[in-house]
Amino acid sequence: MTNSALQALFTQQYGSDAQGVVSAPGRVNLIGEFTDYNQGYVLPCALTFRTQVLYRLRNDNNVNVISTMYPNEQESFEVNQTITQGSSQWGNYIRAVAFVLNRAGHQLNGVDLLIESNVPQGSGLSSSAALEVAIAGMFNHVCGLNLSEEQIALFGQEAENDFMDCQCGIMDQLISAKGQQDQALLIDCQNLQTQAVTIPTDLSIVIVNSNYPRKLVDSEYNRRRIDCEQAASKMGLTTLRDANLTLLAQTKPQMSADEFARAHHVITENDRVIAATKALANNDIEQLRILMTASHQSLKHDFEVTVPATDGLVQICQQALGDRGAVRMTGGGFGGAIVCLCRHEDVAVIQQAVEQQYFAQCNLQADIYVCTAGNGLTVQPY
Ligand code: ADP
Ligand code: MG
Repeated sequence: MTNSALQALFTQQYGSDAQGVVSAPGRVNLIGEFTDYNQGYVLPCALTFRTQVLYRLRNDNNVNVISTMYPNEQESFEVNQTITQGSSQWGNYIRAVAFVLNRAGHQLNGVDLLIESNVPQGSGLSSSAALEVAIAGMFNHVCGLNLSEEQIALFGQEAENDFMDCQCGIMDQLISAKGQQDQALLIDCQNLQTQAVTIPTDLSIVIVNSNYPRKLVDSEYNRRRIDCEQAASKMGLTTLRDANLTLLAQTKPQMSADEFARAHHVITENDRVIAATKALANNDIEQLRILMTASHQSLKHDFEVTVPATDGLVQICQQALGDRGAVRMTGGGFGGAIVCLCRHEDVAVIQQAVEQQYFAQCNLQADIYVCTAGNGLTVQPY
């Protein structure tokens, strides 16, 4: 929807004009999967797919929300009193953010809101984090909360952890809040320090969504997190960040097979993120290929979060690109998307290979997005 159409819709719905728009992007993770909640390293970039929130301050405590994605629904609740789950699944994300801000003692105002997004949902590109960061950024702006981008991201994560019951780490919200155009961000999830890495101009980021129907994602996701915490604790550590392969081998007899394998993934993945950051900075596609292939294999065999559809897509794209590209699954797994890094002229090679082979192999249609790295959270008063 165009900006003027959105503003017209807002005015039609609420009877007065929006005061501005807050927007936050989805993201793709280039490497460093399931390392964030283990206080490790990740290397994502923000996308140009964004979730926009048009807002108008009210002079009461009511929050009213509509979303162009759910045209016949409206969400309403009151701030500055105990906020509980409502019956709208998407509406709960808005409640979640208000809940954690209230809980931290922030005084919120009522607002009228209109949400519009072109972040693909449930594809592993984190439409949920884009929504949380946009909503937290909106409250921050209209209520004058003076939060930093980092604090906005942390509230977004808390919303997902404590209200939506998904024990995600900080990566998605932090990159959505702090992303920079044409840059990937190396994030140290232990102290939230970031280092921007310029994405070489001759490199394309191609995301292929498997469209595999994701099931049990949150419960499996939370289960993996528990395995990691237990593995760390058996090594005498608070998090896997401080683990290494020697300590892991010594502790193997006390661990379940799952705990060992999950920890093995995290320890090796952290090393791959650091190596990939250098390779990206050096535009070294060969090294990126080796690291991303190893990451995918580790996610398949050690972390066990791939499915035949994502394994199949990775194989199709790897075969098509040969040594000219780097490919792996990306995001929370159990379906979702894969990411390829290649030269611009090889994008067509991916498109052709996926069109010719994916449906025949997996009985699903893929969506292909050729992406560039976009900016993080923005606030734009009209
Ligand atoms: P993803 O991988 O995209 O983050 P999730 O299942 O974590 O997938 O989050 C998707 C959920 O986020 C949707 O089911 C919906 O509740 C919410 N959501 C995302 N985009 C929008 C939107 N534009 N309007 C309303 N809710 C949205
Ligand atoms: Mg999500």
